[in-house]
Amino acid sequence: MLGKYFSHSGKLLPVKKAKISIDNIEFTYGFGVYENLRVRKGKIFFINEHVERLFKSAEMIELKHNFNFEEIKTAIEKLIKKNRLEDCNIKMLLIGGEKPDLYIICLAPKFLDRKFYKQGVKVITENHERFLPQAKTLNMLPSYLIFKRAKEQDAYDVLLLDKENNIVEGARSNFFAIKNKTLYTTPVEKVLDGVTRRTVIDCAKRNGYEVVEKDIELNDLFNYDGAFLTSTSGKIVPIREVGEGGFEGICEELKELMKFYSGCLK
Ligand code: PLP
Repeated sequence: MLGKYFSHSGKLLPVKKAKISIDNIEFTYGFGVYENLRVRKGKIFFINEHVERLFKSAEMIELKHNFNFEEIKTAIEKLIKKNRLEDCNIKMLLIGGEKPDLYIICLAPKFLDRKFYKQGVKVITENHERFLPQAKTLNMLPSYLIFKRAKEQDAYDVLLLDKENNIVEGARSNFFAIKNKTLYTTPVEKVLDGVTRRTVIDCAKRNGYEVVEKDIELNDLFNYDGAFLTSTSGKIVPIREVGEGGFEGICEELKELMKFYSGCLK
């Protein structure tokens, strides 16, 4: 964690005073939803989108609460100021039953080594379909175990495959394939509606790319020119190796898209 303070349902408290409710069944079962967002040079990225998604996830699991957008935004701004942080990641956690708690904490930003943006990353595959894929919930056990396997193999993430062997998404990211100037990605109903996925699609369209939502079979992957993952922390991360197979370098259209996206974020 970064900073000496966290926010508990709108109140700033010292991290040393943090307590958890062990007699609250929803807390012990991890009944909750969460969001991660980026703060760089004091700028909070895509706060509206992240708070909206937090509310949407809560609605999907019938987690009722009385927090509103302005309160959350103010709590984040106050926390960053109190912790005197210019660069951090913010984690919001809405958890509990009748009167849910909203925790907001500052975390150290994780940066992927620059070489991976040039060379691409290794990923592994796993047959797994997330429960309620459009909700960002604390139901994280399968993803945790799957991601642990990836780390043991020095892989950046895991491509999750459905029963038909389609690459649906990454364990912590959205998946895209690219051929010429067209991006292909799983239909949004089947995945988390990633904020980066959305902003990459928007930026790509504004720069003359076409975007097609469709299932992408693992067996067909190397008929594309390239593939990449998107997430708040990694932005656009090109894929080099998938299990035994791989792409030869990063195709020009993907390199260009990465440049366009940096411009779109400014
Ligand atoms: N898909 C899943 C399953 C995720 O857990 C995440 C991020 O945590 C993403 C996609 C990427 O979403 P975003 O771009 O909003 O960070």
